[in-house]
Amino acid sequence: MIFISAGHHNTDPGAVSNGYIERDLTKDARNVIIQSLDLKNVIQDKDFETNLQYQRRIKPGNGSVVFDIHFNSGPPTAGGTECYVNQNDFADKNSLSYKMADEICRTTSRILGIRNRGVKSENHSQHPRIGILNLGSGVSVLWEICFISSVINMQNYLQKKNDLLKEVAAVLKKYEIN
Ligand SMILES: [Zn+2]
Repeated sequence: MIFISAGHHNTDPGAVSNGYIERDLTKDARNVIIQSLDLKNVIQDKDFETNLQYQRRIKPGNGSVVFDIHFNSGPPTAGGTECYVNQNDFADKNSLSYKMADEICRTTSRILGIRNRGVKSENHSQHPRIGILNLGSGVSVLWEICFISSVINMQNYLQKKNDLLKEVAAVLKKYEIN
């Protein structure tokens, strides 16, 4: 099963920059990725649910992939893509989470032509622990597609998002066991 979520929801816009709203971009990215997936193997967040409500509803198992989508934000010169995994998965570079995160980063960097900032541990995010990465799923990755605050990142994303999201869907399918 693939559990895919848009990171933010109706009452939580996420980052806002240059006229872009993170929530709208992540919802769109999620919806486009799902078009390339087999719907009977997909569970997604509902846009009226808070992240906590979604996390409590889902019960991902060993063979599942949990994938949460975000955009980064920073000063106008900051750019690139990165992925977060939980501390245990980060410590084991052979873990499926680390491998999938690495593949998502490399795919994004190649297709968008932006910097690969690499795979990071949850404790290097704004939070010491990221709930959605610790639900017991076989694979758990949080993807920061690119910087919403970077004009160039966003130009590249909007130009190439269909290619990018199709390839990302293929990566998710590869790591899903059942
Ligand atoms: Zn976010």
